[in-house]
Amino acid sequence: MSYVVLARKYRPPNFEALVGQEHVVQALANALTQQRLHHAYLFTGTRGVGKTTISRILAKSLNCTGADGQGGITAHPCGVCNACRDIDAGRYIDYVELDAASNRGVDEISQLLDQAVYKPVVGRFKVYMIDEVHMLSNTAFNAMLKTLEEPPEYLKFVLATTDPQKVPPTVLSRCLQFNLRPMAPQTVQQHLGTVLENEHIASEPGALRLIARAARGSMRDALSLTDQAIAYGSGRLGEAGVRQMLGAVDRGHVVRMLDALAVADGAALVGAVDALRGLGLSAAGALDELAALAQQMAVAQAVPDALDETDPDTPQAHRLAALFAPDETQLIYSIAVHGRAELALAPDEYSGLVMVLLRLLAFRPKNAVPASAPVPAKVPAVATVATPPKTPAVAKATAMPAAAAPVAVTRVASSEPPPWMDAPFEDEVIDAAPASARAAHEREPVAYGAGEPSPSKAPAAFVPTALGTRWFEIVGELNAAGSISAFARELAMQAECIALDERATPIACTLRVERESLRASAPCEKLQAALAALLGRAVRLDLQAGVAADSPARREAEERARRQAQAEQIIHDDPLVRALMAQYKTARIVPGSIKPH
Ligand SMILES: [Zn+2]
Repeated sequence: MSYVVLARKYRPPNFEALVGQEHVVQALANALTQQRLHHAYLFTGTRGVGKTTISRILAKSLNCTGADGQGGITAHPCGVCNACRDIDAGRYIDYVELDAASNRGVDEISQLLDQAVYKPVVGRFKVYMIDEVHMLSNTAFNAMLKTLEEPPEYLKFVLATTDPQKVPPTVLSRCLQFNLRPMAPQTVQQHLGTVLENEHIASEPGALRLIARAARGSMRDALSLTDQAIAYGSGRLGEAGVRQMLGAVDRGHVVRMLDALAVADGAALVGAVDALRGLGLSAAGALDELAALAQQMAVAQAVPDALDETDPDTPQAHRLAALFAPDETQLIYSIAVHGRAELALAPDEYSGLVMVLLRLLAFRPKNAVPASAPVPAKVPAVATVATPPKTPAVAKATAMPAAAAPVAVTRVASSEPPPWMDAPFEDEVIDAAPASARAAHEREPVAYGAGEPSPSKAPAAFVPTALGTRWFEIVGELNAAGSISAFARELAMQAECIALDERATPIACTLRVERESLRASAPCEKLQAALAALLGRAVRLDLQAGVAADSPARREAEERARRQAQAEQIIHDDPLVRALMAQYKTARIVPGSIKPH
């Protein structure tokens, strides 16, 4: 007896046996039971999800005469009457399957439609199934449209497509549309288990899980792969054999890559690729597995309970999820899937894989500190080398001043900050504007006045004054009280206090403010009211135009600059950093990459 491939042998003969498309089955079964039949159905979905199978079951349901020859339309075709058997065998004269991918012209459709005027030969209904209907030419669609508009009552159309976007709206609007879902890997795995048990073929759960994943939602593909695996494994399905057959990469390799990435260990990443190459494992398979694992990690981070706890990979996904921030996990996934597409362009697939892994390393956020990172207690700063040996790279450092925390961490990683990171010291740029404008003002005191700050020049020296200190205190209290609007706060921050009499009634306060927009009455009145509330007495605020030399904003910028310089000094003086710089001749600390915390 010849071997019948599993996909054909286990094609579901009825709705009950169909797995994974319960929503469609329910709707169709109800329609059949209540005899509320539409004349055209459109099934959409990727390959191998059951479009043709459902079409055949529908044709049987419409034409089944029952085991006793007396049956009518049913949601449970008997499977033994002539109609059921002939449709299953592909020889029922009133059921026609046309593949539009190979019969796209108007001739084939015209021939089919010409036959539509004749009543069914043996059955109750003629059923025309047109697969990949989006491939039809426009003329063919137009020819079909007329019949679709006024179909004879004995004629049913079943249209199927993997690409419903390409079906003209005039056709779509005349069909009852069902979207078939790609099958979940668990559904496929379970079904494979049942099939193999029936076939008395031993299998390891890991082997079925691999096939179920590789099938990407298509039951037909899963069954075909199972056929292959049975042949490959001489009648049994072991995980190792299936992995080899699929070119699938043991997840352990990918786990090691992520662990290396978590501690920014470039040498280990490159080593992992060498290991794959040595074993002859596919780079594409590694990236597939990396993307699959990143997807599980992302789920673990967002909805920890959603992962399948029976999957032996789940604990690993939870562990790795804790090592990366959610946005990093997204990036790992994205770089893995895009990198896979780029493999074909690489000189060879392993160098392509190395580049993808080094890209992941290059884009590691500079503040990322894995939970497991060792932190020596006595050293004020710790450096991690991310430069693969012999590879020239750029060093980048992040540090806290020792005063802020004794366990400060330096990360030395390659490349520029990733695009989602804040531009360094953005706020300083804003705060620097008045200071630089002051420099311009001091040179040309008469020309300056009404306008907004002039283009940036080198900032003048910062000279704190006693009044500035008092004003800084007052503004600090206003901010702490939170009772001040953003606009009035901006005025307070950008102003230099040049006169203050706290004994006078009302309190007299004169501020020098450069930006004309801040000298408008609204922020002035709001600040006046906030000051009065804070100081407990009425305040009269006078605003003068001019550059504020000692504003609270300027003081904050100076403080940040001081802490920055301190942090940079700590990094430059750090013995470990000095040792790294000596060891890697091309290493340098990227200017501006050191951030005080
Ligand atoms: Zn039947």
